[in-house]
Amino acid sequence: MAKIDEYIPIVGQSTIDDLKLLAERLKGKVVQHINSTSVGGGVAEILNRMVPLLREVGVDTRWDLIKGGEQFFEVTKKIHNALHGRLDTVNRQDIDIFMETSKKNIEEVNTSSDIVFIHDPQPIALIDKKATNKWIWRCHVDVSNPSQEVWDFLMGFISRYDAAVFSAPSFSRVMPIRQFLISPSIDPLSDKNKDLSDETINEVLEKYGIFRDKPIITQISRFDRLKDPIGVIEAYLKVKKYIDCQLILAGGTASDDPEGLQVLEEVKERAQQDKDMHILLLPQNDIEVNALQRASDVIVQKSIKEGFGLTVAEALWKAKPVVASNIGGIPLQIKHRYSGLLCNSIDGAAFAIKQLLNSQEYAKKLGENGREHIKNNFLVTRHIRDYLLLFLSLYHQEDVVYL
Ligand code: UDP
Repeated sequence: MAKIDEYIPIVGQSTIDDLKLLAERLKGKVVQHINSTSVGGGVAEILNRMVPLLREVGVDTRWDLIKGGEQFFEVTKKIHNALHGRLDTVNRQDIDIFMETSKKNIEEVNTSSDIVFIHDPQPIALIDKKATNKWIWRCHVDVSNPSQEVWDFLMGFISRYDAAVFSAPSFSRVMPIRQFLISPSIDPLSDKNKDLSDETINEVLEKYGIFRDKPIITQISRFDRLKDPIGVIEAYLKVKKYIDCQLILAGGTASDDPEGLQVLEEVKERAQQDKDMHILLLPQNDIEVNALQRASDVIVQKSIKEGFGLTVAEALWKAKPVVASNIGGIPLQIKHRYSGLLCNSIDGAAFAIKQLLNSQEYAKKLGENGREHIKNNFLVTRHIRDYLLLFLSLYHQEDVVYL
């Protein structure tokens, strides 16, 4: 894994010096991240990179996982969907299952660190263990329009934290604790984002039987209805009427997302007759994701809800033209017609993809602007700086006005 000084050519010496200086002020403090999976999805993606880098700049950092069975993760997926405004009802029995597993985790997870950093709703009930240490709840999902009932249930826990962190301004909620806005980030030196040789890219394409004889449109996401894979297929079919192209819909599964295989089956069924649609169930392999993104002519992220959409940042960092939904954290990354194209419908997505495939110069310019925007705002070094400032702020007088 890249060492912190290797980021200097990308972000500059002073950025790295700042991180070391801030970390020094946290000497003696132990920070502990807790979430529900070490692979699959954006949270694991970030922690896998963030934790070693925090340690390297001098912050004593741990990362622990809660445990849960199939039923627990079915319930937490319902909660996730309800937070995203989907009409999944969470009933009494679901809450009982949630609380039962939470109780076991409360007994088993050691939370004696100085700062306990809880990610998303799955481990939220661990707050029962709060002593005099500081607790942060980090929300990675789009909670701009949540089910009120589920939000109220979670607020019972959230209000006992010292602070909450959201990814975008539109997600902030009225609450009695301090709120911070910190957007996620990507690591430019990870296997997912580093430069790749043409040879490596071609090897991956060969593995999946994909030829570069027609333009490639790609969406890489967990197979989740909120990523709208069927909508991507519909948009591709509309484009295909005018431009001979191919579609890659690729994704793995996450251990805390039980719906994946079912959605994959639905997608495969829809894609059946078209040999230019490549529906790939990927192993956990960052080089492969990187190669597929780099081989693409247009990257799509047609989500219905999106906390941030790391895949958008990953594509823009590779200077790819992106068509993505105008929702959640995506507009933070894409300024329409400057660093990509935003869409609000299947027709809009198809129109934008056509436009990019027909105008390579325009597509190239959007990609270049996108890369610059990511470089300035969404790299892991900025994210670490924000977290260090957040940690330090927990030890300062709270002269803030609550919303
Ligand atoms: N990802 C991956 N393999 C896959 C699908 C996704 O490595 O098969 C990665 C993707 O590159 C990104 C993360 O998982 O880094 C997904 O984060 P995002 O914010 O886009 O969505 P989330 O899954 O957290 O809703």
